[in-house]
Amino acid sequence: MIQSSIRAMADMLRSKQISVAELCSIYFDRAQAFNEQTGALLSINDDISPQELIQAEQALSNDSHLLAGVPLAHKDLFCTQGVTTTCGSNMLANFVPPYDATVVAQLKNQGMITVAKANMDEFAMGSSNEHSAFGPVKNPWDLSRVPGGSSGGSAAAVAARMVPVATATDTGGSIRQPAAFCGITGVKPSYGRVSRYGMVAFASSLDQGGVMASSADDCGLVLSAMTGHDAMDSTSHPDAAWQWQAPQGDELKGMKVGIISDWIDGLQDEAIKNSTLEAIETLKTQGAELVEVDLPHAHLAVAAYYVIAPAECSSNLSRFDGVRYGHRSASAVDLEQMYINSRSEGFGEEVQKRIMLGTWALSSGYYDAYYLKAQKIRRLISQDFQKAFQQVDVIAAPVSPEVAFKLGEKSDGVSMYQADVFTIPASLAGLPCLSMPIAPAHGLPVGLQLIGRYFGEQDILGLAHQFQQATQWHQAMPEAYL
Ligand code: GLN
Repeated sequence: MIQSSIRAMADMLRSKQISVAELCSIYFDRAQAFNEQTGALLSINDDISPQELIQAEQALSNDSHLLAGVPLAHKDLFCTQGVTTTCGSNMLANFVPPYDATVVAQLKNQGMITVAKANMDEFAMGSSNEHSAFGPVKNPWDLSRVPGGSSGGSAAAVAARMVPVATATDTGGSIRQPAAFCGITGVKPSYGRVSRYGMVAFASSLDQGGVMASSADDCGLVLSAMTGHDAMDSTSHPDAAWQWQAPQGDELKGMKVGIISDWIDGLQDEAIKNSTLEAIETLKTQGAELVEVDLPHAHLAVAAYYVIAPAECSSNLSRFDGVRYGHRSASAVDLEQMYINSRSEGFGEEVQKRIMLGTWALSSGYYDAYYLKAQKIRRLISQDFQKAFQQVDVIAAPVSPEVAFKLGEKSDGVSMYQADVFTIPASLAGLPCLSMPIAPAHGLPVGLQLIGRYFGEQDILGLAHQFQQATQWHQAMPEAYL
């Protein structure tokens, strides 16, 4: 069962080979069994109501509810009504939202069952999941290594099949990099495709919700159900609704795939380089035409992002003051001390660092030199992509310059930031992108990134699906969890 696709699960549920309750209990048991070693989940729903199960059983007879009865986990920054939503932070350790995020409501309406909330880097800031206030997540492929971040809990939970699918978010790489480190498929849609309502904000101009699962087809099915215009999110696109269509066969004739040679040649890790080249060669064998493209400003992306994202975070996180939102210190004697103590106790070191960096970048006298300059770079990078997409349909690129590293290995923040070099450009341009598993390196998973035109989800997921029809990498699972 745990190696079945969501499509196969849906068939089994409809043909009554398994009931919704039975399917959920398989995953519930796995979630319980593996959570201590992986730390992937922050809460497990041991109280799925009989009514929810009955509703899901009823939804099975509705053809448009293909996902009915399929269990999932939500990254713990999606608000879930009545269920603690911590965002990986002591600031929100006791926050029980009175409403569901739009994404949560959409998937619930489909009849999907929330079995857990997934661990994450605090406020989605990080690339290793070591910044969670509730302990790190460990990579199911090697428990001494990180799962990547910030959606490390979602990625590890899917890799160990504690759930068949999980929601996640990506601001600068937080879906793609952990998907790559954990050997699963993860897709970040175009900015505006999925509602941000009820998703705790980090950097609002970049944050996007997406999906992690074991194949592109499963990602496409669940992502379709999450898209659509939402009046509650002012940046939701009016034509956001989208329906995944799995292409037939594995022929890629007529597909133009862009390659950025500088990025691949620059990979220091020969094993990752070889794996990347081999995957691209497979695309060529399948009929894709490879075209060299250039993103001349992309090398500035990390620097621009680490001004823009902290700037937006410093503004977004100002609401957590112990009065309007979040943890309130018990030790303060006056108002100012109350603010200082609440924020010092509630936020971890990385979050505090970013708030300070962002506040400084936005302050008068520095605004033009840093924030405005970073926004100009962002525009240039978008234009680079626009030019590239005049020549190609999809760009294939590495996800990360390294495989999953050891817990505690990266003690200085900057080396962690630099590793986002391949994921940040598409984020700044608001483009759809994904990571899919390719041949492993050093015995650990490696991902290939596919970036599409704005609203080109069908192109990237279609290409990934066709690659997965011709290869087996996405079917690999860490042995201990089989
Ligand atoms: N690693 C990046 C950061 O720390 C990206 C995080 C994300 O996409 N949420 O900001």
